[in-house]
Amino acid sequence: MKCSRTHAKCGRPDWPPELAPGSSGNVSTRVADDPSIIAITPTSITYDEMVAQHIVVVDLLTGASIESKGSPSQELPMHRIIYREMPDVSAILHTHSPFVTTLSILRRPLPPVIDEMLKLFGGTIEVADYAASGTEDLGHNALRALGKRTAVILANHGNVCVGPDISAVLQTAIAMEAAARIYLQSLQVGEPFVLREL
Ligand SMILES: [Zn+2]
Repeated sequence: MKCSRTHAKCGRPDWPPELAPGSSGNVSTRVADDPSIIAITPTSITYDEMVAQHIVVVDLLTGASIESKGSPSQELPMHRIIYREMPDVSAILHTHSPFVTTLSILRRPLPPVIDEMLKLFGGTIEVADYAASGTEDLGHNALRALGKRTAVILANHGNVCVGPDISAVLQTAIAMEAAARIYLQSLQVGEPFVLREL
């Protein structure tokens, strides 16, 4: 999915509701014609209500909204920090999906226990140190724990997935939620066998 700067026609991300109940979670992407500009979902609007006009276009350097009347997600500081430090990242998705969030409150990393996880995530998904929602510290901690992988767990909160476009981060988030569920199920029976990282 590509967004144009003029209209930020990202629209509502087409994600399963269990990934982000209500208005929780948020998604952003660099706009197609200028990597210093992003389009991000607004704060406090449910995905059912969200239309393209609600998407907020933001200057990465200043954090100011451009051509937008709405307020950006309160996690804008985290998105800005990740984009600034990771030029190859062009989309970011943050969710409170239930099984991932269960791992986050246990502060337990998600190791590669299924073959496809090595390719999808690049290794163990680590847990970032805790920081409150909406703070720059949340972004700095996420960045540090992310490393070269495609996702990170935010302690007592949820996760962040990064990638080249919205389709990729959505796929990562869906696969991570499924993997977290399977990992937690297996922990109830015994000690899962963890695959060796690449
Ligand atoms: Zn959140």
